[in-house]
Amino acid sequence: MELNKDIDQFDIPLAKRTYLNNPNSALLKKLLIFSPILFLTFSVAALRIIRNVELIPLNNLKLQVERNNDTRILGHLPYNEIPKEKLVLIEPNIEVHMDMRDSLLNMREEAKKDGIYLVFLSGYRSINLQNDIFYSLKSIRNQEAAERARVSAPPGYSEHSTGFAIDIGDATHRETDFETDFENTDAFRWLIKNAAKFHFKLSFNKDNKYIDYEPWHWRYEGSIEALKVFESSNRKL
Ligand SMILES: [Zn+2]
Repeated sequence: MELNKDIDQFDIPLAKRTYLNNPNSALLKKLLIFSPILFLTFSVAALRIIRNVELIPLNNLKLQVERNNDTRILGHLPYNEIPKEKLVLIEPNIEVHMDMRDSLLNMREEAKKDGIYLVFLSGYRSINLQNDIFYSLKSIRNQEAAERARVSAPPGYSEHSTGFAIDIGDATHRETDFETDFENTDAFRWLIKNAAKFHFKLSFNKDNKYIDYEPWHWRYEGSIEALKVFESSNRKL
């Protein structure tokens, strides 16, 4: 019977054939019924592809930004510790890089001639000392750890470990030591006017978006070695 039916079908001229009983036609009907579902499936798949295509450049951009900042911790760049043989003691408890000693002492002498008394608060700090400062709650500024992140570099990330950084105060206004208020002293005004002549530069000024303003913290950029040390800092900020 099956065979006959097939034969019958092919006996009918092509134009008059009815497709209603044809298995192919049943498939067509099923396709018509399920077409909205298929349409939705394809639409979702297409949207996913489009979304992924858009996300690829965004992800790349994000990676790039992360890559640019990946050496920073809380906005601080990593610094190597100065080799011990390059450290010189300029007064009790103040050691600095030998490259900057003369310039620093000259600056203090020149200031004195103008009636300004600079006091050196902190020079070279070892990574170990920086570790204590960063993690100890009872450090010089008596601040809590959360605040500290903005005002103190993590160990291994301080300019002080290079020997090229110096914290300066006004000998006649010691209450402003390590305080933003130092900017209102004659010593600070003198430094702003004259420090560049001695190759000193304010490291963290008011427009630094990562680190709080530190009017007392200056760094030396008067030698090739110093410039190399601060090259990426000068490039990125
Ligand atoms: Zn400092």
